[in-house]
Amino acid sequence: MRIPITMCHGVHPRTPEQERPFDQAHLDSLLGIAAEMGFQSINYDDLAAWRAGEKVLPPRPIKIDFDHPFRNICRECFEVLERCGFKGNLFVNTGMLEGIFGGVYRPELKEAAATWDELGELLAAGWHFGAHTVTHPNLSELSREDPEGSRLREELEQCNQALKENLGVVARDFAFTGTSWSSAAEREVKKRYRFGRLWIVGAEYQVDRETVRYADLVGVPGPDEPDGGPPLAARYITEDSDPYRLPSMELERLVYEPEAFRRYLEGAL
Ligand SMILES: [Zn+2]
Repeated sequence: MRIPITMCHGVHPRTPEQERPFDQAHLDSLLGIAAEMGFQSINYDDLAAWRAGEKVLPPRPIKIDFDHPFRNICRECFEVLERCGFKGNLFVNTGMLEGIFGGVYRPELKEAAATWDELGELLAAGWHFGAHTVTHPNLSELSREDPEGSRLREELEQCNQALKENLGVVARDFAFTGTSWSSAAEREVKKRYRFGRLWIVGAEYQVDRETVRYADLVGVPGPDEPDGGPPLAARYITEDSDPYRLPSMELERLVYEPEAFRRYLEGAL
């Protein structure tokens, strides 16, 4: 089985200078294709149960992930998913909800951040939550600045604690930040979570302060594709996927065009 998995950071209002606007209508046009083709969304609990042989997945499963707690995910994206009959998975860098600026959370994004109450509504509506650190450090760089790993452990522990205190969620799944990865981060992630998810925006990844091919990181043979991404086999979750190196396809990049997205879904059948 090949399970398609998408990722995005929510939608943005359309402006004239954008070459690839990613607004609510665009998200609707992509996910509408998945719904029309009979895909049904699954979450990380479903995935874990399937891997354990305890659950049969729907015939056409899809995972729809979001990173960063933006308000538009709770509103515009939620509306689109509801229309399609889908539930999302949201990975939360908890610093954004606590006013801790750092990493990708810049002061100008303050108004765009969701509140814990808004995330609570998503949770009640059936969405799944995972951890994404507190301040969203570049994990590849952090492994140099923090060789003992104490900052890394704090990032994971405090994120888990905030999810527990504010949502009652015990985080069991983790999304690595950006396209950054380190062996040290993976070791700590394995102690705390059952899944680790990566993010495909092109063919490369930052691994232990070196640039490597994504395909090499996840052990998928063959050359990269002409679209600038890794081999097609690396773009789906399969029985053989390393649970700590799961893929996800950024909707604003390789599968942005509806036809490219349709081909990606067809590749799972
Ligand atoms: Zn992120």
